[in-house]
Amino acid sequence: MLSRKAEDYLEAILNISEKKGYAKIRDIALALNVKPSSVVEMVKRLNDRGFVNYRKYDGVTLTPEGEEIGRAVWGRHVTIRTFLEIIRVPEPIANKDACIIEHELEAKTIQQIKNLVEFVKIAPDYPQWLEHFEMFCETGVHPCCEEEKRKGKKHRFSS
Ligand code: MN
Repeated sequence: MLSRKAEDYLEAILNISEKKGYAKIRDIALALNVKPSSVVEMVKRLNDRGFVNYRKYDGVTLTPEGEEIGRAVWGRHVTIRTFLEIIRVPEPIANKDACIIEHELEAKTIQQIKNLVEFVKIAPDYPQWLEHFEMFCETGVHPCCEEEKRKGKKHRFSS
């Protein structure tokens, strides 16, 4: 079992090396907002455990084992970020929180979030309940509740 931090490194190295073919210490430090010396330390450890190849002047690449984990973490990231965006969390926050949540959830939970995300995406029309949810976020009133709508009453859980 890898630590959260190690998972974040593999995820970052994956994303950088998909663009450049490899990741430099400086790129990783920038992506994770940590000091280059911390990156060197972690990358050496990941190298010893067989997740990355690190040669001082050639930068860092993922081994097949490291790539498998990096892809799994990134997949969870995208699923959670998309889910948060569906429920109208602004993108920068969704992205930041996805990176926290991605390490902690059970596989079953991720699978169900993924199912929901795909369910919403493949709908030929924008799902009506989602439009209703958006209205609910703005007004505190569920459009289906005619009674409440007529009275203009706020839903009791709204702030
Ligand atoms: Mn992430």
